Amino acid sequence: MNGLVWLRSDLRLDDNPALSIADNECEKIVCLYLLSEEEWKTHNNANVKLDFITQNLSNLSKGLKKLNIPLITASIKNFDSIPNQIAEFSKSNNISKCYWSNEFGIDEHERDQKVQNMLEISQIDYQFFDEQIVFKPGTLLTGQGKPFSVFTPFKKKWIENFSIDHLEIESDITVKKNFNVINTFNNEISFVQDHDVDMSLWPAGELAAKTRLENFLNHKVSNYSKDRNDPILDGTSRISPYLAVGVISNRRCILEALKLNNFELQAGNKGICKWIDEIIWREFYKNIMHSFPRVSMNQPFNMSTKSIQWRYNEEEIKAWKDGKTGFPLIDAAMLQLKYEGWMHNRLRMVVAMFFTKNLLHDWRIGEAFFMENLIDGDFASNNGGWQWSASTGTDAAPYFRIFNPVTQSQNFDSEGRFIKKYLPQLASLNDREIHLPSPEHLYEINYPSQIVDLKSSRLRAIEVFKANK
Ligand SMILES: Cc1cc2nc3c(=O)[nH]c(=O)nc-3n(C[C@H](O)[C@H](O)[C@H](O)COP(=O)(O)OP(=O)(O)OC[C@H]3O[C@@H](n4cnc5c(N)ncnc54)[C@H](O)[C@@H]3O)c2cc1C
Repeated sequence: MNGLVWLRSDLRLDDNPALSIADNECEKIVCLYLLSEEEWKTHNNANVKLDFITQNLSNLSKGLKKLNIPLITASIKNFDSIPNQIAEFSKSNNISKCYWSNEFGIDEHERDQKVQNMLEISQIDYQFFDEQIVFKPGTLLTGQGKPFSVFTPFKKKWIENFSIDHLEIESDITVKKNFNVINTFNNEISFVQDHDVDMSLWPAGELAAKTRLENFLNHKVSNYSKDRNDPILDGTSRISPYLAVGVISNRRCILEALKLNNFELQAGNKGICKWIDEIIWREFYKNIMHSFPRVSMNQPFNMSTKSIQWRYNEEEIKAWKDGKTGFPLIDAAMLQLKYEGWMHNRLRMVVAMFFTKNLLHDWRIGEAFFMENLIDGDFASNNGGWQWSASTGTDAAPYFRIFNPVTQSQNFDSEGRFIKKYLPQLASLNDREIHLPSPEHLYEINYPSQIVDLKSSRLRAIEVFKANK
């Protein structure tokens, strides 16, 4: 039998159920990856993420080739053209069955529904899998049978229901019979490098992802609880881009971490337990996206915040995007995003809270800008993180809890080492002044003045939120 594995957010051989089941059932396999230009733009996906995907596809193609599995990659106009094109490709290659792993998102769900209809009409069998999170989306429910909207009880339920059987991972794919594929797609994925990210930070491929995981688990995870909030220490795994495009699976990450902790989720090495908690956050936000489709439609999770009167000031938004707010920690963080395509978690919270509270700008603008620039852009986690920071989301920080970027800087970058890495013009400032340079020094260090007064803008945000209540 000939099988088609339609790859999407699962660019790997290891722990890829669509590929392993196809391997069990088919003599010949072809893999397909389609990039929809229209959806890529409307979903605000970053150019750097596309760069990362194309590099990973080229790497994966080499691994698949050794197994006699061709990988066809193609660019198509939009999701609407997919059903016909998949059916045509399948017919031309005598495909009996298509396999894929589900993605989250309304557009993606509708696309897959249409593909299923077309395959049924064409009498081609299909099978899909849920591999992005441990439990099938929407199956972990409260005592009242409702989806969770708060993280802590979700995590409790996740842990109660978890067993090591959830981590049965298939990684060996056998060599298949040669498949001389007829490629019915016309357009190759074209990529114009239009970003400032140093890609040597993000080597492509499964081996690179596994090595990164191994290094983190062997050298950093024990101090994770302590080091994870200090941006200069780089005490986190930086595995998020690999998870976002599926070069490594969440289950592989959890399994390797548990192996080092006698398979304990809540006892033993505190760093490992804390790290797995963070992966459960990822699962939580994916469940939110699944169970509350409004978050994918530009709506706040907490509908009572729908009528908040956000401000709009183009100059302020530009200063925030360009890292020119006059607050060194915010500006250094935004430059980290520009040059690494990634930002430390603590800083994501600080810059998002500054944007939505001190500047009182709509979280959707910040959310889109992050997606346009993150190599690890993931709708569910990004939307969840932005809505958490804006107090419009799940488990929301109360609106009156507003991070002060100067205090955050003093607490988490006390000597300003992170700031100085991205803003070398501030290198001469001492440990006290680095967090908020005094106005008389700004000219000589070529640094902008603060775009907003922290105290009055904080009170303004509290008033606006209070009035909305
Ligand atoms: C405003 C905002 C936007 C964000 N946007 C994204 C995004 O687009 N993509 C993304 O993957 N994460 C996002 N996050 C979550 C988090 O910042 C990143 O996952 C983390 O910084 C990635 O670095 P790491 O791999 O070193 O994380 P580690 O600390 O090593 O954590 C391991 C993994 O756990 C998951 N994780 C960790 N923290 C969170 C979290 N708070 N929420 C959800 N999952 C988490 C990630 O998959 C991460 O790779 C966002 C957070 C905020 C506050």
